[in-house]
Amino acid sequence: MSREESEQGLKVVDAFDLDDELRSLLKPGEMLRDEQGRRHRLPRYFYEIASHEIALATSLTAHFGLNEFILGDLKEAARLQQYPRYIPCAVRMLAFYLEQFRAAAGASVHIAVNGGYRSPSHKLSQNASSHMWGTAADIYRIGSTILRTKEAIEKYNEIAEDVSDEIHVLPYGPITDKNADDHVHLDLGYITLIPREISEDRMEQPQESRPRFAFEERRRKERRAAAVENEG
Ligand SMILES: [Zn+2]
Repeated sequence: MSREESEQGLKVVDAFDLDDELRSLLKPGEMLRDEQGRRHRLPRYFYEIASHEIALATSLTAHFGLNEFILGDLKEAARLQQYPRYIPCAVRMLAFYLEQFRAAAGASVHIAVNGGYRSPSHKLSQNASSHMWGTAADIYRIGSTILRTKEAIEKYNEIAEDVSDEIHVLPYGPITDKNADDHVHLDLGYITLIPREISEDRMEQPQESRPRFAFEERRRKERRAAAVENEG
């Protein structure tokens, strides 16, 4: 799919403009700590994917389809598994690097279910992980090789690191988030992408003063009303 087509097919949205429930799940602009305690700001701009058909029909690069990055599991928030769905715009960068990795590996690269974008509301999301930025992929198979052995994982980790200094991998080992022993985890770090369609003169709305859900707003009004009655 050409650039023009994909831009027509995918709408860029500022997640601050989404409804309260989506905003509370995607947490645009919120700060999250990584394992080392460093704080990172969650992405604000997303591609809106209107339907499953569009997800299947949209290619980000010659060999990577949009759908591969949003294969969710039941640990993802239910609302985020319904269309329209949202993925951080930086996924385009990830697809570009994966395409280079595929060429270096000389074989097709298969992203695991739930191995692409995971929202900050995913049940496994605790510390900041680049999966929440749309800039990480868990790869479970390359060509016909299932990545379960130290030998295979270390081989492809090395190939990935040789593609670019931007690519970070997890060393082989058993500790979740620090190692990987049944996939290659490849990530680009905490990249947030500001699409050219966006004008940056709009300030972020202060989240603290905004009710997260409509019912909170109602309850606030009720409390205020009760307070006025008590005063009177
Ligand atoms: Zn991963």
